[in-house]
Amino acid sequence: MIKVSLISLGCAKNLVDSEIMVGHLRRAGMTVIPEAGEADVVIINTCSFLDSSKEESINAILASHQDRSLRKRRKEQKLIVAGCMAQRYARELPRALPEVDAFIGLDQITRVAPIIEEIFARERGRKDAPGSFVTPRPAYIPDYDTPRFRLTPRHYAYIKIAEGCNHPCSFCIIPRIRGHHRSRTVASVVAEARRLVAEGVRELNLVSQDTTFFGMDTWDGRPGPRAPVDSARGSALTTLLRELQAIEGDFWIRLLYTHPAHWSDELIRTIAGCPKVARYVDMPLQHISDPMLAAMRRETSAARIRDLIARLRAGIPGIALRTTFIVGFPGETGADIDALCEFIRETRFERLGVFRYSQEEGTRAAKMDAQHTAAAKDARWHRVMALQKEIAAGVSRSFVGRTLRVLVDAPGLARGEADAPDIDGRVHVPETLPAGAFAEVKITGCRDYDLLAR
Ligand code: SF4
Repeated sequence: MIKVSLISLGCAKNLVDSEIMVGHLRRAGMTVIPEAGEADVVIINTCSFLDSSKEESINAILASHQDRSLRKRRKEQKLIVAGCMAQRYARELPRALPEVDAFIGLDQITRVAPIIEEIFARERGRKDAPGSFVTPRPAYIPDYDTPRFRLTPRHYAYIKIAEGCNHPCSFCIIPRIRGHHRSRTVASVVAEARRLVAEGVRELNLVSQDTTFFGMDTWDGRPGPRAPVDSARGSALTTLLRELQAIEGDFWIRLLYTHPAHWSDELIRTIAGCPKVARYVDMPLQHISDPMLAAMRRETSAARIRDLIARLRAGIPGIALRTTFIVGFPGETGADIDALCEFIRETRFERLGVFRYSQEEGTRAAKMDAQHTAAAKDARWHRVMALQKEIAAGVSRSFVGRTLRVLVDAPGLARGEADAPDIDGRVHVPETLPAGAFAEVKITGCRDYDLLAR
């Protein structure tokens, strides 16, 4: 029996792809094991979003190969590279990394088992250059019955409601890697959610490149020709949230990766009226200065963003806003950074992340003049992070004395509605609370980004 070990890098969307690969491997009768040293095949599911993620992916590939050559692993072990990096550099990688046995593209994740069989069959015949199983312009999207083996703890799951992206953000390579936006149907997502809730999942995290674009490429979430965007705007997502809310059981629904250009009052009202939808919104804003938003091609403006935040705060009382910003974008001036800091100070985001701009080949922004040095990006990053650290401490203090409903992740560790898995803070709770259960706790103190409770 073929034993396979898989290393999943990058974001939650890539993790879902890893889960689909593991589901198909198991269905084909292969065993998936955590110990890479014992495996016949190691798959590295890579990320290629930023320079740092590419570096991490390359390091994982080289470390895996080195362990194999040092005989820390079976020497006949096969090494497969999948994911965003394999897709993005489909032409270059087979030449640059001859130690890899095969590259798998994003459309091939459901074919991982036959591809492994093919690699072993080829081995028995002739050995030549790495096999490349990457096809351009990915079009695949999973369905409710796609074999999948969850790699998250039993009590939370990610549901990929759409794949790809239609936005023109000038810094981003994702649309080139993952293809055009394609939504699943409302029925498909609901069927998957029902099964997960029946299996004991207590938190459904909806992910895609832009969750607010869900259904805008179809007609109200039904497959079919592209509808005029205005008439379909947001209605599939509101339908989806209402249908998820109607599923019986005690669970949270969390909306990740929303785009500020696609929020509507109807979506705000829907979230307010669906108590199972966490009072939490993840909305990467990237910047607030109008010249930067225009250069980034974000399809929105400072005034519209400010107005949207006011409507979100007024329409969904208690909402926690999470966002991310990019600093050091080409041409960003001191005044732009001042405006960004002022905006962060006035908005007091509950959760905030900052990225240093990464010059990604193949994007419009990579060709822009006035690229900043790494030192300049670093200085800006430290300035914004220091500001947010102060704000986060104030936000944490504001929780002290309150009673909070939390979901226990592990003995002693939980999260509230304002904390998404992996990316946000934690609530330290008594170890006696069982993992995977909801609990009401009283917040007694705070430490940096975390809360302490009893
Ligand atoms: S919305 Fe913009 S940043 Fe996000 S994946 Fe699409 S192009 Fe990239």
